[in-house]
Formats: sequence, C-alpha cells, structure tokens
Amino acid sequence: MPDIIQLLPDSVANQIAAGEVIQRPASAVKELLENAVDAGATEITLVVKDAGKTLIQVIDNGCGMSETDARMSFERHATSKIKKADDLFNIRTKGFRGEALASIAAIAQVELKSRQHDSDTGTQIIIEGSQLKSQGACSCPVGTSFSIKNLFFNVPARRNFLKSEPVELRHIIDEFQRVALPHPGIVFSMHHNGQEVFHLEKGALRQRIVGVFGANYNNRLVPVEEATPIITIKGFVGKPEFARKTRGEQFFFINQRFIKSPYLNHAIQSAYEQILPADSFPSYFLDLEVDPKSIDINIHPTKTEIKFEDEKSIYAILRSVVKKSLGQYNIAPTIDFNQEMSLVDIPLKSNKTILEQPTIKVNPDFNPFKTEKKSASPIESSNKENWEKLFIPSDSEEEVTQEKIVHPDWEKTNEESKRSTFQLHNRYIFSPIRSGFMIIEQQGAHERILYERCIASMEKHRSASQQLLFPKTIELPAADFALVKELLDDINALGFDMSEMGRNTFGVQGIPVEAGNADAGILLEKLMESYKQNLSELKLEKRDNLARSMARNMSIKNGKPLGTQEMNSLIDELFACSMPYTAPDGRPVVSTFTLEDLEKRFKK
Ligand code: ADP
Ligand code: MG
Repeated sequence: MPDIIQLLPDSVANQIAAGEVIQRPASAVKELLENAVDAGATEITLVVKDAGKTLIQVIDNGCGMSETDARMSFERHATSKIKKADDLFNIRTKGFRGEALASIAAIAQVELKSRQHDSDTGTQIIIEGSQLKSQGACSCPVGTSFSIKNLFFNVPARRNFLKSEPVELRHIIDEFQRVALPHPGIVFSMHHNGQEVFHLEKGALRQRIVGVFGANYNNRLVPVEEATPIITIKGFVGKPEFARKTRGEQFFFINQRFIKSPYLNHAIQSAYEQILPADSFPSYFLDLEVDPKSIDINIHPTKTEIKFEDEKSIYAILRSVVKKSLGQYNIAPTIDFNQEMSLVDIPLKSNKTILEQPTIKVNPDFNPFKTEKKSASPIESSNKENWEKLFIPSDSEEEVTQEKIVHPDWEKTNEESKRSTFQLHNRYIFSPIRSGFMIIEQQGAHERILYERCIASMEKHRSASQQLLFPKTIELPAADFALVKELLDDINALGFDMSEMGRNTFGVQGIPVEAGNADAGILLEKLMESYKQNLSELKLEKRDNLARSMARNMSIKNGKPLGTQEMNSLIDELFACSMPYTAPDGRPVVSTFTLEDLEKRFKK
C-alpha cells in the first residue's frame, strides 16, 4: 500500500484557518484596525463599500513595513509582536498570533501599500487567495494601507452566508466602535459607500464616547476612576435613568482591548441594584488596566474572551467602585463638555432625589381622542358592520351566553347610558351596554387604536404631522442612524417629518399629531428603543414593529384620569378597530358582563 498522508498546501491550510479568524467582513475590519493601532498610528481611516463585501480599506500613518516585512506579514504565524514563549505573558499589543493577514489573504484579493518614515519609496504587494500576484516599489505616504476586495471570493459558501447589508454594516460599526472607544488619542474616521459615518477627533474618553454615540451622551455619563494594586479602573458608567431596555452600550476593555465578560457584566449590573427599573441595562465604558501577566488572552482566536488570575477580587472591586461612583455622581448636574478633564471639581450632591424612569412629556391639554372620528379607513368601517353581524344577538338577548364572545353593543348604547361611563382606579373604564356592562383597560385600548392607525398610515404613506415651530436637528449614534435611515419612509408616514441632514443627523420639521408637545429627540429615541427591543425579542416584521413601538410610547397610560367624553371617544375608536378585543401584543382589552351573569351572582 502506498503512503497516503500529505501535508496540506499552505493555501488550503490558510483557508481552513481563516474560518476561525475571519467570519465576516467585520472580523477583517477588526484585525486591520488593530494592526494599525499596534503600528503606532495617530490617524486611522476605514473605508468600506457594500458593507465590506466589495471593499474594506484601512489606511494608517503608523510605522509602516520594510519590503521584506511586507512580504513576511502574510505568512502564517508571522508576527513582529512576540519572539519567545515568555512574551505571551507580557502582551501589550492587540495582535500576537500572526495569523490575521495570512487568513485574510487566503480568502480575498488584498493590496498592501506600506512605507516606513526613513524610506523614500514604499512597497506594494498584491495577493489573491494566498497567491502572490505582484510585488514592487511604489510611491505612497508613510504608513500602511490595506485594501481587502471581494472577501470570500473563493469560498462561495461563506460569501452566501453573509447577512443583509444593514446587518453586516452593523457588525462593522460594532467592531469600529470597539477599537475606537478605548483609543481616544487616535483620530479615527469611517466611510461607507462614500459617506462619512464617523469622524472622531483626538480627545479624552468622554469626547470619544460623545463622538461615537452623539452629544446626548454627554450628560448621561458618570465618571469612574480607581487605582488598586491589582487593577486600575477608568471610564464611565451611564446614569441609571438612561438605562436601556436592550443591552446597548456596554463596553469592557482590558488594557484597551475590547472583551466580553458576562461575569464582570454581572458585577456592574449588581452595582445598579435597586436603582434601575426592572429589565433595563446600564451602559458602561470601562477600561481595566491590569498587569498583562495576570491575564490570559490566548483562549480564543478573536481574543474577546479573557481569563483573569484573580477574577473574584476584580469582580468585587468593580462592583464597589461602580457603586461608589453612582452614589457620588448619579444625581450630579450635567457636566460641561468643555470642563472635560477637570472632573474633580464636579460638585457632589446627595442622592436623595428620586430616580425616575424617563417619560415622554405630554401636553395635559392635548386630547388624543379629538382627532376626527370620520377618518376611519374603509376597512375599519366595513369591518365594523361585519362584527356587528357577528355579535349582535339575533333574536332575543336571552340567547347571549358567555360561551360566545359577547358583543358589547356599544353602537346601540344610548347617549344617556354613555354618560354613566366611569373610570375605576384611573385604569378601567366601566360602561353600561344593553346586555349588561363592559370593562375596558384604557392603555391597552389606546394602544390598539394607535397601532391600527399607524399601520393604516404606513400603508397609505401619510399621516397627520404637526409642524414644529422650531425645527430640530437630532444627532444619533451611527448604528441608530443607519436603522432610522432604513426605516425613514415608514417613520415619516407615521407623522414625523424628518430628513437626513449630514452625518448621523436628521432634521426634524414635524412630529405626529398624537405626540402632543413631546420632545422630538426623546420621542424618536424611545421609538427606536422599543423597536430594537421588539426586534431582538419578538423578531417582528418592520411595520408591525414600528406600529407597536409607536402605540406603546404614545398611548395614554394606565393611571391617567379620563373625563367621560374622553372615555366615550376612546370606546368609539376602539370599536372602529379591526381587532378591538386585544392590545397589539395580545393582552385582552375588553371584558363583558351580561345581566344574566349578574343575575346568577344574586341567585339564592
Ligand atoms: P499579528 O498582528 O498577530 O502580529 P497579523 O497577521 O495581523 O499578525 O500581522 C502580521 C505582522 O504584520 C504584524 O506583526 C506586523 O509586524 C505587520 N503589520 C500588520 N499590519 C501592519 C500595519 N498596519 N502597519 C505596520 N505593520 C503591520
Ligand atoms: Mg494583527
């Protein structure tokens, strides 16, 4: 028998190995950005096209590479960052495994241009699928530029596996943020399809956070700073009142490297105990400086999981430090952006003030029911007839039994009975009907009404918008901006009047009539917050999700006193809905009691 075992050709081995390091365009972005940071760059530019599927380019002004190094850099296990096993325990660089470039070159068309500062000419290398296509001198600025074209061009299965552009772009933005946040001293910018998505100037961490997530964040941050012999903690946590329903901005960095740590996350969450509304998550941006000897970053190819020597102590320190900072600062006044570094002189205030969940401001005089009733769509009114046929007792009322859904007979209820409609505990509306009485839960009812109205508006592409006296501009975190942009047509159909106004910014000329005098920015933020929550938990279809989010946020809430007139209009509108019996999330809204039910209760 002949021998059959062979060594895999490098290109094949690299392609297999690539699968571990490069799962999607965002993984290549991460590796290239990290290399640029390791190269000591002070300015790094990321350019992507088609969410990285056609082009990912990273340009830096770092140390550059010699001709030989440029060629070597694509070899597997080729690195300048460690030399011997011992070095593994003293890692300060982002990379050290020497496999990123080899992996990327195995599965894409790569062009490298690099020049060192003491050299007049640079080197250009073109590699496709691990094959060197050309190498030569070129003229280029000091530093390095990597262009990755057509990622996975030779691994169709992988390429087909990529998600939609918004999803892949989202991942890229995530990775960009994870590198840019802990390095506020480096100027970062990002462009997608010719548009600038981020431009982050050099500054302190607070400026960086604000640059990434928008000016709103400036007064949401509570500084955290503590040095202990085993760990130095620096950064910010979010004020409790700005906690999110989705795990949004939660960032741990260990020695400026982004990591995921459910264990340490728990430490933070528990520091917020009792000051956070249920099911909400605080934001945090914390850099933990530790002796590299006390951690092992070698346990995962993408290096986002890390083992600590002394995990328990770190947990305890983190928890108490965050608690202390919250205690000192959570009620402190807005910190002036320009004061940035002089955080020491922020006045401490007692934390007696009660923390409230942010709410949308509503004009108490605004009557949400006053909108013209006759605006009911044809679907709605014909439907009204349908369910009348279905539910109106045919002959005598005696036939109405509990088994059937009892028709509330609302249309037949005379004006006088309507006047005796009343509200119980500012939550339940009791109203007499011919066959007995019904109880309506006000918030669910209003959610149903708004939900159907929103769906209809999106289908018709228009809705009542109230023009703002003073148009506003709203700056959003880049990821939210991308999301809103994707939904813009539908959002405008809901009564917003918004248009793109430059980088991550929308101009708002109008908001939905139902929103009263709510703040446009807060309204939009709340809307997106619910939208994202629905997206992750319920996987709702786009319009369904938007309509539910709007309805949730703009409905009158349980606890609000209503006048008789308001209650009756609410009931009128509810029964003009195609599905009056449940709220959009399926909880019951109407409960009916017949006279017969009552009689039974009073029988001997
Ligand atoms: P690692 O980062 O783990 O060392 P990589 O495959 O990412 O491995 O890079 C290989 C080597 O190429 C690096 O060690 C570094 O010497 C060099 N290199 C990569 N990117 C750059 C860059 N942008 N500027 C200068 N040198 C670079
Ligand atoms: Mg690297």
